[in-house]
Amino acid sequence: MRLFKKRPYISIQKSTSQNGPSVPDGMFEKCPQCKQSVYVKSLGQERICPNCHYAFRIRAQERLALTVDPNSFSEWDGEVHPSDPLQFPGYEEKIQNVQINTGLREAVLTGQARFNSIESAIGIMDSHFIMGSMGQAVGEKITRLFERATEKNLPVVLFTASGGARMQEGIFSLMQMAKTSAAIKRHSEKGLFYLTVITDPTTGGVTASFAMLGDIILAEPGALIGFAGKRVIEQTIKASLPDDFQMAETVLKNGFIDQIVEREKLKSVIGQLLELHVDPEGTVKEESK
Ligand SMILES: [Zn+2]
Repeated sequence: MRLFKKRPYISIQKSTSQNGPSVPDGMFEKCPQCKQSVYVKSLGQERICPNCHYAFRIRAQERLALTVDPNSFSEWDGEVHPSDPLQFPGYEEKIQNVQINTGLREAVLTGQARFNSIESAIGIMDSHFIMGSMGQAVGEKITRLFERATEKNLPVVLFTASGGARMQEGIFSLMQMAKTSAAIKRHSEKGLFYLTVITDPTTGGVTASFAMLGDIILAEPGALIGFAGKRVIEQTIKASLPDDFQMAETVLKNGFIDQIVEREKLKSVIGQLLELHVDPEGTVKEESK
């Protein structure tokens, strides 16, 4: 009997080969907060890390499924798509690739849906689409979201996720800050309710405009919320900043947002807030003004 027979090494293959053991792609994901490898199925539908409770970034369609009443969503302005005003090298190709990968035409999905049976306009930004950056089409879709909500007397619930303005569209991106803010102002002047839910990450021109204009501003735990990035600030002021700088928890402590709500509770909290602030005609209830 050959006790010490040399056993050949096995190699772990990513291919779908029938012969050897294989680890399919996408079974494990590394948690950005606790740095542990997490079995994807253990994240659940809400995509929460079982070790540290970090809420993974999710796609617009996943957010929709988690948040609104089933089958209540109808999309608005799905035909609005990015333009390339500066003929920026490689931009068109990048857009085409990301559209295929995400199934979205732009970084924000807008429409009408029900939360706890209350009709509302809804916008969901998706960080998987060029980091949720705001170009002309994103600005246009958000502006139309508020204009239509104003027309139809609907509250607006907007989930933000963005790296800021889209550099490939230059100054045209920055103009979207004023444009969206003006539409929000008209919505507000009609006494309609606007709820922002800030998700990881929300920065730059989006923070500096519609993300911070909500009547009530919620955020997910651990979300990065800021204007300029931490590294840029450190280089400018020549000092290092604390680890919790620009975290939702710090931003809450400094009074910029109203509450941090865990993802599992968001649906019911949004429903309650709409119930408290919206009367059947959609306008803000007198006592909550
Ligand atoms: Zn974790």
